[in-house]
Amino acid sequence: MSRDIVIGAGLAGLCAALRLAQAGRPVTLVAKGAGGLGLSQGTIDILGYAPDRVFAPLDAVRAVASDHPYSGIGPDAVAASAAWLRDELGPELLVGDPGVNLHLPTALGSIRPTCLAQPSMVEGAVVGGRRYVVVGVRQLKDFSPELVAGNLARTPAPDGGAIEAHPAWIDLPARPGEADASGLTYARALDDVAFADAFAAAVAAVAGECDVVLLPAVLGLRRLGVWRQVSARVGRPVAEVPLQPPSVPGIRLYEALLGRLRAAGVRHVQGSLVTGFQAKDGRLRSVTVAAAGGPRELAAAHVVYAPGGFESGALAVDSYGTIAERLFGLPLTASSSPDLVGPDFWAPHRLFQVGVRTDAAGRPVDGEAAVYANLYAAGGLIAGAERWREKSGDGIAVATAVRAADAIIGGAA
Ligand SMILES: Cc1cc2nc3c(=O)[nH]c(=O)nc-3n(C[C@H](O)[C@H](O)[C@H](O)COP(=O)(O)OP(=O)(O)OC[C@H]3O[C@@H](n4cnc5c(N)ncnc54)[C@H](O)[C@@H]3O)c2cc1C
Repeated sequence: MSRDIVIGAGLAGLCAALRLAQAGRPVTLVAKGAGGLGLSQGTIDILGYAPDRVFAPLDAVRAVASDHPYSGIGPDAVAASAAWLRDELGPELLVGDPGVNLHLPTALGSIRPTCLAQPSMVEGAVVGGRRYVVVGVRQLKDFSPELVAGNLARTPAPDGGAIEAHPAWIDLPARPGEADASGLTYARALDDVAFADAFAAAVAAVAGECDVVLLPAVLGLRRLGVWRQVSARVGRPVAEVPLQPPSVPGIRLYEALLGRLRAAGVRHVQGSLVTGFQAKDGRLRSVTVAAAGGPRELAAAHVVYAPGGFESGALAVDSYGTIAERLFGLPLTASSSPDLVGPDFWAPHRLFQVGVRTDAAGRPVDGEAAVYANLYAAGGLIAGAERWREKSGDGIAVATAVRAADAIIGGAA
């Protein structure tokens, strides 16, 4: 029997598969790797810079260039898709208003705009006049409270006010004798109520006079209320600051979405590359999956292709500088890389905007015509945005996944 095939388990693929399955469609999700969520901050950025800091992301979405992925979707659909994801995951995992950016501290002490955040993070919003204490753990690598507090204290808050920030340390190994534990080690330890109590007591002892205590984002992997437990003991709000990958908040979102997929009946083939396809009369008939016993054909009613961009290897540049999409050979907005990388490392590089163009339903096009009538694209493959600079990759992934799924659901109906 033909099923809807979703290729890719990043934010875009997971959202497309969930949305399709919730509409009662049989869905198979095939992915070679875990996608970018576990590397991310565990928040949902809609649009953070355009190019200046954005406070109202939907207003900025309304003003994007005509070749931007948001342009054909529009602010209302972007807001609805983000709200859908937030409500699917529930208030223990994602809160916020798609129309308003929060300005949260990073592990470098800079301030990043984001839209939906985990409830354990929101009290960390950088607001003028507030006093912050940043607490590090001696045995946890990659989080320096001096760096975070020093940079925060010398940066004006986005509202123009000044803030105070001071560092503090606690000494509490997650595992006896381990001197440079990762965030994941602490998160797993903090899933245990007794260890979380000891952690909270240690933080309370050093918090001093402040309005908010900033902590590394390790407050539990599976037990989502650890931040409340710590906050109650400390007697004031605490907030998580995401660390570099692997990211505990990102893994929380990934695992929660996988749980929703299982509950919705999605068949999930993880660790397998889609290597080819069969097409007839302008429609995809099947995709070929590299399975353990040899290639396997999966009959496809529709395909949502959400393979990411350069970072996942879906787009590649060869030694001649030619850019190609590797599975379907889809037409790209540019095919020669040398002109697309500028001399200034920090300046925008048009290479990152290369991808497929789509029609209003999200189908990759060659000229104006859909390449295959039943092939849809979502996420990082779609041209027109420098996602990491704009902080728009999450919002684009969710909005284009919902667009593709709804086009399939609507078309089938
Ligand atoms: C350094 C960096 C920093 C970034 N920072 C931000 C940021 O701060 N904010 C923001 O919003 N965005 C940011 N982005 C962009 C964001 O990470 C991406 O837009 C987002 O991850 C795209 O999600 P996706 O689901 O489209 O793809 P991915 O998360 O890349 O997932 C792709 C999936 O497809 C699978 N796959 C690929 N090809 C195949 C195949 N042939 N067969 C089977 N499976 C396949 C992969 O294994 C993976 O599961 C950043 C990107 C980079 C590179």
